[in-house]
Amino acid sequence: MKLLTKKTVSDSLTELGLKNEPPSFENDMINIPNSNFQIIGESTHEFIKRFFPEVTAKKWNDWHWQIRNSFTSIQSLSTFLELSKDELKVVEDRANLPIRITPYFASLLHQTDSSQGIRRTVVPTFEEMILSKGEQDDPLDEHNDTTVNCIVHRYPDRVLFLVTDFCSTYCRYCTRSHTVAKKQSRHSLKSEWDSAIEYISAHEEIRDVLISGGDPLTLADVQLDYLLSRIRQIKHIEIIRIGTKVPVVLPQRITPSLVKILKKYHPLFLSVHFTHPNELTEETKFACIRLADAGIPLGSQTVLLKGINDNPLIYKKLAHELLKIRVRPYYLYQCDPIPGSAHFRTSVETGLNIIKNLRGFTSGYAVPQYVIDAPGGGGKIPLLPEYYQGKDAEGNVLLKNYNNELFKYPDYI
Ligand code: SF4
Repeated sequence: MKLLTKKTVSDSLTELGLKNEPPSFENDMINIPNSNFQIIGESTHEFIKRFFPEVTAKKWNDWHWQIRNSFTSIQSLSTFLELSKDELKVVEDRANLPIRITPYFASLLHQTDSSQGIRRTVVPTFEEMILSKGEQDDPLDEHNDTTVNCIVHRYPDRVLFLVTDFCSTYCRYCTRSHTVAKKQSRHSLKSEWDSAIEYISAHEEIRDVLISGGDPLTLADVQLDYLLSRIRQIKHIEIIRIGTKVPVVLPQRITPSLVKILKKYHPLFLSVHFTHPNELTEETKFACIRLADAGIPLGSQTVLLKGINDNPLIYKKLAHELLKIRVRPYYLYQCDPIPGSAHFRTSVETGLNIIKNLRGFTSGYAVPQYVIDAPGGGGKIPLLPEYYQGKDAEGNVLLKNYNNELFKYPDYI
């Protein structure tokens, strides 16, 4: 791994002899430098040359710069994307979510093909404006389980702590599109956090806090340090989890100083929102390895999306690539019926078919739990293909294996 200096990205890569040969990730897996500078993948390098020719490597790799220079309107997207009719028909004021895409993630989007999977996840289309049967603003009914501001207490021993409504990049199918990006200020007020922390302190049955939002890793180091230290001081809290998409859309945020803060609060788990194998760039791999090297268990949460990752081969590729960087595929979610999501939602049969094509055909670690977060606040309900076939007259359990062969288990006890 070589460090980039203050010159333009183009200059730096040329000087380092890397212009036509981007740094090899494989060779650098052991030596992750203790530095804020990170690698820049080949396609991203081309994007920078074309659309940000004056930016230095240092700036490009500064996560604040990435947020400041994000694309936030259809007009700004049109500066680097050839927009389709459906994308051009978007009425921004009527969309559930504003537009926001970091320059880094923008560099991964296909500039002419609007059907590219990862482009569809972040670039709105007219279909978002169409309300279909069964769609609701808050399909999981989280509002009903909100005890104090920022806290959703649905399950007996754990809470969801929504610490910000800001994300560096907005996913068009976001379950919380009714709450994210809705406040005037970028982050929740400290006083809101403090009353949430008081609630957690007062409820000794809570042993697990899931920090989410919005994206918590868009908070400043000092804010995260404050939040984590306050939660860690609560005696009955055993584990802390953070839900984030930052390693995917803003890997530059995974700085040594951030990792140093996170490490202080073990056991701390990170659930990263991955969608498609195309997200597994050199930069994202680098960020995940840096987190894993800090002893942070990483899991991936993936929303099943029509025409994007609803093919068993695509999901299997994603799962295999994630395991190579020590991210365990954890949940595969059925897409929640938020307003304007029909073009993203698949049948439940599609999800079951993915699990059927994984179980037995690849490592168990590559098989996620397929769940539906039940509309109306029922919580996560796991779904499995029909392996259990009931019992025969002698009391044997009848089981179908991955090859569709029938077996009996003597369940006489
Ligand atoms: S990162 Fe998460 S909270 Fe933010 S828009 Fe995407 S799904 Fe929603």
